[in-house]
Amino acid sequence: MKAVCWMGKEDMQVHEVPEPKILNPRDAIVRVTTTCICGSDLHLYDGLVPTLAQGDILGHEFMGEVVETGPGVDSAKLKTGDRVVVPFTIACGGCGPCHEELWSLCDNSNPNAWFVEKLMGHSPSGLFGYTHMMGGYAGGQAQYVRVPFADVGPIKVPESLRDDQVVFLSDIFPTGYMAAENCNIKPGDTVAIWGCGPIGQFAIRSAFMMGAGRVIAIDHVPERLQMAREGGAETLNFDDVDVLEALREITGSKGPDACMDAVGMEASGHGMQYFYDSAKQKLRLVQDRIGVLRQCIQACRKGGTVSVPGVYAGFDDKVPLGAFMNKSLTLKTGQTHMMRYMKPLLERIEKGEIDPSFVISHRLPLTQAPEGYRIFREKEDHCTKVVLDPWAEAAAA
Ligand SMILES: [Zn+2]
Ligand SMILES: [Zn+2]
Repeated sequence: MKAVCWMGKEDMQVHEVPEPKILNPRDAIVRVTTTCICGSDLHLYDGLVPTLAQGDILGHEFMGEVVETGPGVDSAKLKTGDRVVVPFTIACGGCGPCHEELWSLCDNSNPNAWFVEKLMGHSPSGLFGYTHMMGGYAGGQAQYVRVPFADVGPIKVPESLRDDQVVFLSDIFPTGYMAAENCNIKPGDTVAIWGCGPIGQFAIRSAFMMGAGRVIAIDHVPERLQMAREGGAETLNFDDVDVLEALREITGSKGPDACMDAVGMEASGHGMQYFYDSAKQKLRLVQDRIGVLRQCIQACRKGGTVSVPGVYAGFDDKVPLGAFMNKSLTLKTGQTHMMRYMKPLLERIEKGEIDPSFVISHRLPLTQAPEGYRIFREKEDHCTKVVLDPWAEAAAA
């Protein structure tokens, strides 16, 4: 089968690889019909997350048809022929965190938990296509994928909805939604969101669903700012304004009630601190550039909430803990507890409250994934989101 393989920093290649097989009783094999490139895949593309190996198949946003199930899969929940969206986090359904619906913290789905425990004390769940320290699972940017604990995560989707309407239930829609929920929004609140990529876009729309009065979206890519305005947000371009000053002005010096970092470890920026972060990241003295997180803490109103859906990996310095403590801020974060959100958000799509396909800018055959990674990283050609068709032949040149 064809699959998108990480061959090194900024080197994605499509290779013929063996098809996956059922390894454990609760596995299923899914024939992938649509898969996507995620902003967090770009951290892998840029070589910033350790424990990737040459040849690893990436991809954690995918959907398709179940073509085989292991003997332990509960057929009342999943069977051959079902059309499913698969969440990017893998959960067993039976451990303590799973019973608490903290699905992204499953104790049983990361076979390499020992490695993460050394870094973080405890390991989150395994993830599809996201390094060996997160389980070493082959990802879904491929024609077929093995799905462990297949009767827990995948959600069946009705034939009446197109792939491009539901595929984002695999990550970015629930992730944007949980990030907004983590803002602790009360009716009329002002929410500032750094990063108008796909997660930011879904967070903007989710914040309004939760009753936010104003959403202020911050980025510097014109088409992303435009898409944010179409979602009802006011926008700030950080190339043009001093963001902290602008937010003070907009909120009558009070500060936003909640600030969201939907950027993560590869924050862009200006000034001394940005260059300091970049230099240290290049020297591997820190894993993350935390410029956005600093601004969130600085901008947030006293007693407000900082929500972090952006991905961070390591140990970082110059975190303004003084401001954080003295302003009585709350910090909420985490990989998304996917199975809490997939069904209710599918219902919103079915009711026509939102059509998540608005975020797509590029539809490419899987064979053109390397080009997809490149233009998404470079934000060329107004690229906001790339979806891949594993079965389409490359368009004739
Ligand atoms: Zn993703
Ligand atoms: Zn579990």
